[in-house]
Amino acid sequence: MSKLIQDHTSTTETYIQSIYDTVIKRNPGEQEFHQAVNEFLESMAPVIEQHPEYRQHAVLERLLEPERLVSFRVPWVDDHGQVQVNRGFRVQFNSTLGPYKGGLRFHETVNSSIIKFLGFEQIFKNALTGQPIGGGKGGSDFDPKGKSDMEIMRFCQSFMTELYKYIGSDVDVPAGDIGVGGREIGYLFGQYKRIRGGNEPGILTGKGIGYGGSLARTEATGYGCIYFLQELLSSRGLHLQGRRTVVSGSGNVSIFAMEKAQELGAIVVACSDSGGYIVDPNGIKLDTVKQIKLVEGGRIRDYVTHHPEASYHYGSTDIWSVPCEIALPCATQNELDAAAARRLIGNGLIAIAEGANMPSTLDAVHLLLDNDILFGPAKAANAGGVAVSALEMAQNSMRLSWSFDEVDDKLKQIMQHIYRDSVQAAKTYGFEGNLVAGANIAGFRRVAEAMLQQGII
Ligand code: GLU
Repeated sequence: MSKLIQDHTSTTETYIQSIYDTVIKRNPGEQEFHQAVNEFLESMAPVIEQHPEYRQHAVLERLLEPERLVSFRVPWVDDHGQVQVNRGFRVQFNSTLGPYKGGLRFHETVNSSIIKFLGFEQIFKNALTGQPIGGGKGGSDFDPKGKSDMEIMRFCQSFMTELYKYIGSDVDVPAGDIGVGGREIGYLFGQYKRIRGGNEPGILTGKGIGYGGSLARTEATGYGCIYFLQELLSSRGLHLQGRRTVVSGSGNVSIFAMEKAQELGAIVVACSDSGGYIVDPNGIKLDTVKQIKLVEGGRIRDYVTHHPEASYHYGSTDIWSVPCEIALPCATQNELDAAAARRLIGNGLIAIAEGANMPSTLDAVHLLLDNDILFGPAKAANAGGVAVSALEMAQNSMRLSWSFDEVDDKLKQIMQHIYRDSVQAAKTYGFEGNLVAGANIAGFRRVAEAMLQQGII
């Protein structure tokens, strides 16, 4: 009996469980990747039942195995003349909808599990944007904290000297993520250009405005998260005006989420970095946060020296004990667990929109949904960054650039579409009101249909 016929004798649940078991067996110890797959598979049973062709053509099995995963040595010399060695990664997870697309993360915690969870989620996030981009992700366990500008440059040059073999404007287009911003993209771009001997602006996104970058790319993830939140709130006739809001993190996503939230009248009372969090009951002064984080590269605790009415607390994940109606986890994976979710619910939480990738643990997600909290999952709520990256690619191809408002308008429309598609998919497949499932399904359906059309590859 062929595998195909055998599979049809088991129930959908057994089939999905067997897929999950294979993922665990094939990727031992990769907890974050298992978690991302688990959350995704929880949404899949009704889809597989309504579309038996997905099972016949092993769509899930193929989707869960990256098309390619490269890992490479990154040697570089620090300011003391010492040789340092890091590990670089690029996962090219799925190219069904277009060139692999996804950021690079430079952080000490980076390993193949982190890169695979991010790359896997990127497939569906990118599909949700409606743009022609596949899913990929990369990075290194390099820790940029405390490194000099020249060390960062030498590291980026070494990293690109290996990565350049695998990328290209029609192949794979990296961008930033944690630890990779405009400066790093500049150094990476410079080295690519030097190696290749030509100027190909479409090989990276998040570039500087002067050499092919898009206006509004820096703001896009944070702004997009708030545009998504506006849709969520308006489904219950609510607005951001006057709402107490807590935003974790103080990097690119967090800062521009705070900016847009404040513009819409929210009172942002707390934000954080990996050391701890600040509470400013009168509302965070964003200019100070920008100065500390974007200009000086300092720590968020420095905020209280400028604003003595604010307080600093050690331990970043305790930020969720600050009472609020809106919570925006914009720092990193698994920063909001079940205990934090319980506290937030007890303190009168109305809505969450995830600006970071997989910031809530699966237990926390279940608790929040069970308690009827409006929940904007990462794949949908933080898709604005990559959406504007795709707009940057489009501008690069056309060799022109759009105004800030033009890009921002397109971003808003994309976020509204993602919201509507996720709501609709949730409804169609029996998960009404659950946008975690809705986003998974809407993204998956787009990829799955195209996979069927492209044959068994
Ligand atoms: N790192 C961002 C994300 O998680 C952006 C990726 C990109 O712009 O390609 O979606």
